[in-house]
Amino acid sequence: MSKASTGQTLRFRTSPSRENGRYCHPAGRYPNRHVSVGAGRLLAGLLLLSSCLGQSCDLGPLFDGGFTGGDVLGFRPDDPSSGDVSNDPVNPAGDADSTAGLVADAGEAMTVMEGQEVVLQGSVSGGESLSLTYLWKQIAGPRVLLMGTSSLTPKFTAPPVLADSVMTFQLTVTAGTATSSDTIDITVINVLSPKITLTASPKEGPAPLQVTFTAKSATISPLPEGTYTWDFGDQTATAEGLTVTHIYQTGGTFTARLCLTLPPPQNPEPISAEIPVTVTAAPSGLRQPQWPLKTSRSLYTDEQIAQLRRLATTDPVIMGMRSSAKSHADKWIGYTNLQLRDLLPDSRVCRAFDVSAKGCPIHGTAVYEYGTYPWKLHPTDRFRVICPVGGEVYPSNDFDAYYRSGMTNASLLTGKYVDSGRGYVAPDGEKYWFVAYACHGNWANNWLPAVTHLAQAYVLTGQRVYAEKAIVMLDRIAEIYPAMDYDKQSRYGEMSSAFYPGKILNRGWEMQTLRDLVLAYELVFDALTDPGAVSLPWRSAADIKANIEANLLEEALDVLAGWQDGSSIGIRQNTLIHTMLVRQHGPTASLLEQLLNSPGSAAEQQGINYALHNLVYKDGMPHE
Ligand SMILES: [Zn+2]
Repeated sequence: MSKASTGQTLRFRTSPSRENGRYCHPAGRYPNRHVSVGAGRLLAGLLLLSSCLGQSCDLGPLFDGGFTGGDVLGFRPDDPSSGDVSNDPVNPAGDADSTAGLVADAGEAMTVMEGQEVVLQGSVSGGESLSLTYLWKQIAGPRVLLMGTSSLTPKFTAPPVLADSVMTFQLTVTAGTATSSDTIDITVINVLSPKITLTASPKEGPAPLQVTFTAKSATISPLPEGTYTWDFGDQTATAEGLTVTHIYQTGGTFTARLCLTLPPPQNPEPISAEIPVTVTAAPSGLRQPQWPLKTSRSLYTDEQIAQLRRLATTDPVIMGMRSSAKSHADKWIGYTNLQLRDLLPDSRVCRAFDVSAKGCPIHGTAVYEYGTYPWKLHPTDRFRVICPVGGEVYPSNDFDAYYRSGMTNASLLTGKYVDSGRGYVAPDGEKYWFVAYACHGNWANNWLPAVTHLAQAYVLTGQRVYAEKAIVMLDRIAEIYPAMDYDKQSRYGEMSSAFYPGKILNRGWEMQTLRDLVLAYELVFDALTDPGAVSLPWRSAADIKANIEANLLEEALDVLAGWQDGSSIGIRQNTLIHTMLVRQHGPTASLLEQLLNSPGSAAEQQGINYALHNLVYKDGMPHE
């Protein structure tokens, strides 16, 4: 388009609307067909258009679709440098005198395909007797390498684009002190589409699931500036950015969509891409607190805690405890809160403290030469075990991936020793509970002790990060605790015809670890109530307290009260008392009365005063 010549022509251009814009603006925010507006001066353009309509205007070859209802005509004024407002569309020939008849012509606008070789065809009129120099440069659009910028016919290869995009090149001709400039628009048609792909990490997992979304392109790097708007498909607020994170609170399959709007003069129609995310709902049945929430530490005073913390820097014994707790707790500090939360599987993953009475499928009972619980836990796969004899790893399938699929993707159950959670079944019918053994072993040896170590490290060092990690784990355990049922979710539960008591673990193990969890909650409690209270993206401090107190403490009181387990008399009462005291606002007195003096409906249920007489004084050694 010539700017400085008299008798100039003006060209207007429309581009077709695109189907892929529909998602991004379903409410019809882009009801019209659009054209690019070089300087954003639509109003000036329309003013000029109205004055132009009475004259001879060349609307150009691109303007061939005719108008339909709703068309918006834009105007792209000539653009000598930045395409900015310095251009005066009302007086387009304003500086013609300074060029002394010299007129540059950058050629006719072109439409090309991605990857196409393009030769620009510049020309010049006037200044015939002078020595002319030419300079081409690109002033807008996706950048290209322009070859031969001091000739009249430079070349470039049309770049890959995300959407039909306009590039603007400027030719400046200089003759002595006279110069003339002209620009040309090259529209690059998007041939290969889509170019944007989305990644979601993780793509699946149990709720609440935090997912990081990223937009990428195999052909265009870095992705251009623009407005990247994400809709996560779960009726929540959108977010903007090349990379965003979102927490899915409920189960379901969601389609996350990116809507990218490129700035003009690139195609103003939005570009969209999408990716599915599968969120599995955790087993439900969560409880609400039945008594007022805990308001302070109730087993230890703040003075006792402060005294302990002082001793941890002066008393050799307490200093030793401090360093031991720290050394155990420090490995858990390396986890992010989300990783830590994600580490603890829900009740769908069974537990077992023995793989099989027959030992190893290959080495048989030779494994028991390595102890009562001989299998080694895999160092990096929480659901695999290693045979102590041959070092082989079981099961053959990636159970973790299967769990993350919501335990639904059967194509992940591959290999010779497949365990879908309730054991690999050998040809002779024997079951080998590899996954359950790994799960039980990790709960008993790693995950549950971690909570205690973290809480102790917090009390002894005062470092908040230990409390935070302990709270993340307690919060997660509370959330999955009501659905935990060892009787229905374990090898022993399956083998036993009678009720086999337990939640995460079985019998006395459960009762002892439960007491440890309750004590850990007491130790970190101030980190949930003081001015800098720990809160998590998925739960406020108040909700964390309610979750732990209802779903861990109150659930524990209910189930332990009913258990009859002769092998753990005393432990059960001990855990019940600790739990009630830490819970603080429950009916502590009546529970204590019952634990001490109830005659009991069964031998295991009698109060301590009766039990001491009946089971110890008379019998000498109760049960075990
Ligand atoms: Zn083996």
